[in-house]
Amino acid sequence: MKVPLLDLTVQYQPLKAEIEAAVHKVMDNQTFILGPAVAAFEEHIAKYSRCRHAVGVSSGTDALLCSLMALDIGPGDEVIVPVFTFFGSAGAIARTGAKPVFVDIDPDTFNIDIHQIENAITPQTRAIMPVHLFGQMARMDAILEIAGRHGLAVIEDACQAIGSSQNSQMTGERSTCSCLSFYPSKNLAAFGDGGLILCQDDTFDQTCRYLRMHGESKRYYHNKIGGNFRLDALQAVVLDIKLKYLDGWVAKRRKNAALYNEWLSPAVQKPTIDTGNTSVYNQYVIRCPRRDDVQRFLTEKGIGSAIYYPVPLHLQECFGYLGGQPGQFPVAEQACREVLALPIYPELSQEQIGFVAESINEFYKGNR
Ligand SMILES: *Cc1c(COP(=O)(O)O)cnc(C)c1O
Repeated sequence: MKVPLLDLTVQYQPLKAEIEAAVHKVMDNQTFILGPAVAAFEEHIAKYSRCRHAVGVSSGTDALLCSLMALDIGPGDEVIVPVFTFFGSAGAIARTGAKPVFVDIDPDTFNIDIHQIENAITPQTRAIMPVHLFGQMARMDAILEIAGRHGLAVIEDACQAIGSSQNSQMTGERSTCSCLSFYPSKNLAAFGDGGLILCQDDTFDQTCRYLRMHGESKRYYHNKIGGNFRLDALQAVVLDIKLKYLDGWVAKRRKNAALYNEWLSPAVQKPTIDTGNTSVYNQYVIRCPRRDDVQRFLTEKGIGSAIYYPVPLHLQECFGYLGGQPGQFPVAEQACREVLALPIYPELSQEQIGFVAESINEFYKGNR
């Protein structure tokens, strides 16, 4: 039995006619840049996310970059970010000229360790960027409390966590802003790249809208240096259709996670969801002894899996100038050796999930 890590064709098939009609309409109108398609999608996703504003941008990375630029963060500033995340979180900080300041993670949730944030704050700190890894939110009560006490902005990296909530409050509801990605592996997947900034503040929203258009306040008058961070109309119509199905897909991801939780042997450590959190399970990530061997074993059986992430950010070559050393962030470094993401996409059958679980259990039983 083949079980790919992700198969987007099975999601596309039932939506094909609906999406093709919408794409054809854009092609007939030849209105590709912003316009009514992007505005309609922004309105719907803002409502879905219980946020006043939504600004469609070119990618999740650009959502982060644009948010940092809207806060005038740059050289001489510091932004706190977990050391175990996708590169884009810290890459966006560094591209503004600011310094990413890394913090270790909580071993159970893989999210930023709230107890280590205050130690990382200096007079140069301007913002905290919690990352809601794999689909569940970092502890926002504590993060917002610390940020409030130190006068810091909070930029949520919710690229893997669209629709996630904590004690019934959704990502973006309480912070400076929340950044989403529509990269094809995310829960709401574009036909290419796309991203979005959610926020509550009218001025912040307006600034992001300028910045995505080269800082243009009116045509060819530029009050800020921005970039070309726009979301394509073609992507917006695809995303607007898919948004209607998102909750149904997330429910299936949760059901799949429950099956793994039931069927996987205690030889591996299953995901821990913090109390109050509702995970959208963008990834189902286990910790396992002899991770590379078990991954090889799964590959031989036709089962896809992935390592998110093999190298913590302080040990990435490009961040060598920050002086990171092995052993500096032991929890993240151990996670990098043990994590393995299993197929969790909505359309998986029970048989496929059973086969993945059985195969992992067989590996540990055989004690290969
Ligand atoms: C995917 C992702 C990003 C970047 O999003 P892109 O749309 O690929 O630019 C940033 N942070 C995290 C945690 C992500 O998972």
